[in-house]
Amino acid sequence: MSAILTYALHYQGEFNKNSLGAVSEGAKLAKELGGEAAAVVVGDGEDLTDELCASLGKYGAGKVYRAKAPEGLAQPVVDVMAKVIQDEGYKYALFGGGLLGFEIGAGLTARLNAGVTMEVTEVAAQDGKLVAKRPILQDSAVVDVDYVSEPGIIIGRLNAFDLAEAGDDQAEVVDVEVQLEEHSTKASMVQRGEQRGADVNIEDADLLVAGGRGLGKAEGFELCEQLAEALGGAVAATRAVVDAGWYPYAAQIGQTGKTVAPKLYLAAGISGAIQHKVGMQASENIVAINKDPNAPIFEFSDLGVVGDLNKILPKLTEAVKAKRGG
Ligand SMILES: Cc1cc2nc3c(=O)[nH]c(=O)nc-3n(C[C@H](O)[C@H](O)[C@H](O)COP(=O)(O)OP(=O)(O)OC[C@H]3O[C@@H](n4cnc5c(N)ncnc54)[C@H](O)[C@@H]3O)c2cc1C
Repeated sequence: MSAILTYALHYQGEFNKNSLGAVSEGAKLAKELGGEAAAVVVGDGEDLTDELCASLGKYGAGKVYRAKAPEGLAQPVVDVMAKVIQDEGYKYALFGGGLLGFEIGAGLTARLNAGVTMEVTEVAAQDGKLVAKRPILQDSAVVDVDYVSEPGIIIGRLNAFDLAEAGDDQAEVVDVEVQLEEHSTKASMVQRGEQRGADVNIEDADLLVAGGRGLGKAEGFELCEQLAEALGGAVAATRAVVDAGWYPYAAQIGQTGKTVAPKLYLAAGISGAIQHKVGMQASENIVAINKDPNAPIFEFSDLGVVGDLNKILPKLTEAVKAKRGG
């Protein structure tokens, strides 16, 4: 039985970690449903080799459908996944979140007139069907969502699904020919950029320098990065700046981001909204720099500095470097 289809995004011969989490989760769930998990890979480069595609077997994919089409764009992937689902009868499509996952999932939902659940944090197999768990009402409750028709589309929150290597298995690689829709060829990839800070695991860091809207602009994060480097720590962010595109979501702390408890949490230009506080209040030492003496963050800080972060952060970085001998 063809149970679950996932999409694995790749770049220069490597799969994206978030996609591999979805492939692993799909494999685990397909086993529970008694069916097969497969992945779709799309690209037009030389790097999409048999070996690379088959390696998804390590994460539990039994089959990998490979299609030649532009990579990194949503619509061509929608075309490929829609064809594979229609031809092979997959019951569910599962995505690991992220911008591309959301876009492909939404496109596939519209194309196949399917049911969709977004921001899913957990999926369970019950009575031969999948049930998606999704937080609602500002994360104060969780609802169970199941599907009355096939296919069901499940889009996880970013990194919601754990990556698990199942072994050395190799997936069967199947080439699929797909006629792209006319609108799917209208966009092309001009350039690919790396998000700064996206590769750092802030949950493991002992020292975090967190920046908020008080930094003024995306470049303001350089002040946080310099101090974090001097301290040997990492950089975190509020939702306000992540939403503004100043820093990657991977660094967001709070109710809809990560929960951390480092030895030191230094908050620069952060007001201390309750939704931020819930993600960092367990930190051992909280130091806040804010120009507003009435900022709520001072109510739960161990040390508060009232002043302009543009003056304080560079001086602090210098002092830390001097103390550490350069
Ligand atoms: C459902 C929901 C979920 C949410 N989830 C999250 C979440 O996960 N994480 C999160 O962080 N937020 C979350 N929020 C948003 C939250 O309510 C706040 O809007 C957000 O935390 C504010 O971010 P901020 O502190 O960067 O910005 P602001 O509240 O605008 O604060 C900026 C601060 O910088 C100070 N400042 C300005 N200039 C300077 C300067 N030169 N020097 C020093 N200080 C300066 C200001 O005095 C101010 O206190 C959520 C909101 C909702 C409704």
